[in-house]
Amino acid sequence: MAEDAMITRINGYPISAGFGDIDSVHKIPHKGVDIAVPIGTPLHAISDATVTRVNDSGALGFGKSVRMKTEDGTEIIYGHLSRVTAQHGDHVSAGDIVALSGNTGHSTGPHVHVQIVSDSGALIDPTPVAQLAAEPSGIMDHVRGFADWFVGKERDIIAGPVRSTLSAFLHDLIAVLNINSAEIITLAIVSCAGGMMISPIIGDRGKWMGRLFIAFWGGIIWRVTT
Ligand SMILES: [Zn+2]
Repeated sequence: MAEDAMITRINGYPISAGFGDIDSVHKIPHKGVDIAVPIGTPLHAISDATVTRVNDSGALGFGKSVRMKTEDGTEIIYGHLSRVTAQHGDHVSAGDIVALSGNTGHSTGPHVHVQIVSDSGALIDPTPVAQLAAEPSGIMDHVRGFADWFVGKERDIIAGPVRSTLSAFLHDLIAVLNINSAEIITLAIVSCAGGMMISPIIGDRGKWMGRLFIAFWGGIIWRVTT
């Protein structure tokens, strides 16, 4: 067991597997720390670094992953991502968003795997610095929470696969926009207008879609402003 085994959360997010843990999923000591962040959580570089690899191993291993190297040769790896926003060769500064978390590769639920390897190849416990990777983003956490709630409410009328696609889409949309509240309100007005405009053109189905647009963005405004 790692010496920090008593730590169960990072920035409020549960640690789903600690550094050095052995369990049913990890037959050998876990090489990093798994933080159970919602899909679409922006992940920040924990140090100034150069992006050395952007990879997608499909359903195996890390799935979508990004590797960065600091000036002293330390390698930082984020795995199971939904999207890598940084490009191979990019020089990133500490705090820059490099990827969005996901549930890709060999993964049993939404989380990010954070791993640090020294220049000599030794594994370093990332727990003390992992909080810098998955910083809570304040207002956007509320929006992501609303997206989860919204998709949850629709579970009776939307089939499972569609629901998870919608959920991923919403998380992706919200994370990529990474917007402030003024922009959300502008988007809401544009979306509502769009929803109302298409209603008469495509009949009842359009009306329903228009209402959904209004309910969704109205809900976001309510959630963000209260
Ligand atoms: Zn892991």
